[in-house]
Amino acid sequence: MTSIHHINCGTLLVPNFPTVVCHCLLLEDEAGLALIDSGIGLLDVQDPVGRLGQQLIDMAGFQFNEFDTAVRRIENLGFSADDVRHIVMTHCDPDHAGGLADFPNAQIHVAREELSHALSGHWRYIPRQFQHNPRWQTYEPVQRRWFGLEARPVSLGFSSEVLLIPLFGHTLGHCGVAVQQGDGWLLHVGDAYYLRAELTDENHPVSALAAQRADNDQCRRSTLNELRRLMSDHGDEIQRIGYHDINELPEFCLGPS
Ligand SMILES: [Zn+2]
Repeated sequence: MTSIHHINCGTLLVPNFPTVVCHCLLLEDEAGLALIDSGIGLLDVQDPVGRLGQQLIDMAGFQFNEFDTAVRRIENLGFSADDVRHIVMTHCDPDHAGGLADFPNAQIHVAREELSHALSGHWRYIPRQFQHNPRWQTYEPVQRRWFGLEARPVSLGFSSEVLLIPLFGHTLGHCGVAVQQGDGWLLHVGDAYYLRAELTDENHPVSALAAQRADNDQCRRSTLNELRRLMSDHGDEIQRIGYHDINELPEFCLGPS
């Protein structure tokens, strides 16, 4: 079975909000390693303003620590960047795509809708983060369903199945990533919510920020409803985490390791 490491690949300090993390996963399989999202990258840390711009840094509250990058976290676990064969992207926002350039040989798996959006010149993405000619592999809509949701199988060749689950709204091609774990699943919902409290409190204060950052807010809200249904009907089979909620990250993942 593919095993899962939880790693923190970035910290954001947004005024008036709790500390926010970049909760990536490292999948370890006999066939190699795969990252789910790539966090803030070494190039972002080395030249924050040149790469991201001061306005975005201030708006999102980016913090730049080399230990808070996927490549350093992976080295600390005893692997090397070359062991990472694949990166599966929930979406291509700058706090998720910064680390791509640190793994130039990895295949990047992403929904077709997300890649078209990310390469379209839309303001929310940072073209510099895609300038190293990433080896993209895109996924089209399919008939397959997973607990009632569309599921696009990701070609990793791993012993556990990995699925891209369209959870559109935050961006036009935003997906969750489901990883089979024995009889159950781990679902990484990416930025479908910022804080898990949004699932139980429809009027949570962070919702205004989530609405403002969404490319399609109506779609984001129906995605949240789908997640509520999924967790109430299948919560015993599915463990769920998001990208930014510090409470969903094991405590040992914080700070320099
Ligand atoms: Zn994000």
